[in-house]
Amino acid sequence: MRIKDIHTHTFPLEVGSALVCIDCDESLLREGHWHSAGLHPWYVTDNNRSSLDALESLLAHPRVLALGECGFDRLRGPSMQLQEDAFLRQVELSEKHCKPMILHVVKDFDRVIRLRKTLKPKEKWLIHGFRGGAEQARQLLASGLLLSFGVHANPDSVRSVPLESLFAETDSKTDIEAVFKSISGIIGKNQSETMEIIMANISDFLA
Ligand SMILES: [Zn+2]
Repeated sequence: MRIKDIHTHTFPLEVGSALVCIDCDESLLREGHWHSAGLHPWYVTDNNRSSLDALESLLAHPRVLALGECGFDRLRGPSMQLQEDAFLRQVELSEKHCKPMILHVVKDFDRVIRLRKTLKPKEKWLIHGFRGGAEQARQLLASGLLLSFGVHANPDSVRSVPLESLFAETDSKTDIEAVFKSISGIIGKNQSETMEIIMANISDFLA
């Protein structure tokens, strides 16, 4: 496995080089690619049974390596209660199928910290597209969460993360090399060293 990009919605030109996030629909799987699958908080409703059933069968697929993105968004989507219900079901699936989680979290980090503390999951949780400050990053890391950074990352936050916990993503059409370039400038490594560090971390995360 040589995955460079932990979270994107775009199929990479180099097949197998990214974890491509899909909705709970088996027809979205593509030959040769690696995937994560989950119920995004924006699409949670008061009845998610069919999505969650489809998600459970996707998690049994050998090319689906993680559950997500799922999580919390205070600016978009249904009530926080519905978002939390759907999240809790996905935590159960993640634990049952031994797949780590990729989280979308907007303005709701305290809830994730609290849930991680009370549920004590065995699987890792990674917050994707983290743009917060260094203090918040440290707090999340201290609570056992992992962070992934894209082109809009806060440099102080990137520097506050130990190298063995550093992750990178495009989330869309950005070139992952551009993300490595920006992170390498921040952490003072060259671009290929940065890429090797991040690829090793991704491989550990998905192991
Ligand atoms: Zn995304």
